Amino acid sequence: MNSGVYDPQDEFWNVMFEIPATEGMEDLPLIILQGHMDMVAVAEDDQEFDPLTDPITVIRDDENGTLTADGTSLGADDGIGVSIIMAVAQGKMAHGPLRAIFTSNEEDGMEGAANLDPEWLNDAPWLISIDNEDAGSVLKRR
Ligand SMILES: [Zn+2]
Repeated sequence: MNSGVYDPQDEFWNVMFEIPATEGMEDLPLIILQGHMDMVAVAEDDQEFDPLTDPITVIRDDENGTLTADGTSLGADDGIGVSIIMAVAQGKMAHGPLRAIFTSNEEDGMEGAANLDPEWLNDAPWLISIDNEDAGSVLKRR
């Protein structure tokens, strides 16, 4: 792992932090987990909805294990990617050294990803993007 010290957030609002390895797994190669953070505020045509002032009405379906919203999007289109990375960071599974990178502004030109500091990437042999539109596929950097 690179011993350099990075700012956890760059000027493009990208966020990066290290997730220490589970005890006994420190010698595994560093893997970057990447997702993006932004909001997609979409409402059905018959909904009066101002995303700047109106709350999202969440519908929790415990039987099916789903969260949906009443007439609007839930908001973040890569919320699942960010949630998976945060769950891993909270110790939900054993892992080697990880680096979380959340890129910004995907919806408006991918400014965050396009301006990502290569130093955040150079020391990791693997990057897993949890930011894909196709279920069941993984993008990797090698
Ligand atoms: Zn997005």
